Amino acid sequence: MHEVSLVRSLLNQVERLCEAHGGTAVTDVEVEIGPLSGVEPLLAREAFALLVADFGWPAAELTIEEVPLMAICQSCGAEVTVESFRFECPGCGSRSLKVTRGDQFRLLNVTLETATPMEPAS
Ligand SMILES: [Zn+2]
Repeated sequence: MHEVSLVRSLLNQVERLCEAHGGTAVTDVEVEIGPLSGVEPLLAREAFALLVADFGWPAAELTIEEVPLMAICQSCGAEVTVESFRFECPGCGSRSLKVTRGDQFRLLNVTLETATPMEPAS
């Protein structure tokens, strides 16, 4: 299951962010998963649960945003939502579509716990 190595490198990225911002723990990790990313959300969730304790943030939660597959028609310029991997422009019937969204597994947001507030109230 290649999700384990993908999630591990994601968590490495989170760890660097955490250190850079003086975080003591990570509470929430938000990721984007597109239909063409090759990542199965369910398996990513399992991998996260498996790995997160190793990083020392057992309470961290994973939030997955499943984004639709979007493309631009190269012939008429229409923005197309690709359903069921059907690469055809509903407007002009062209099959030359360029994927603009939905082909990535990437980090969107990280919520950190810090020992001291990052932005003191006073
Ligand atoms: Zn078109």
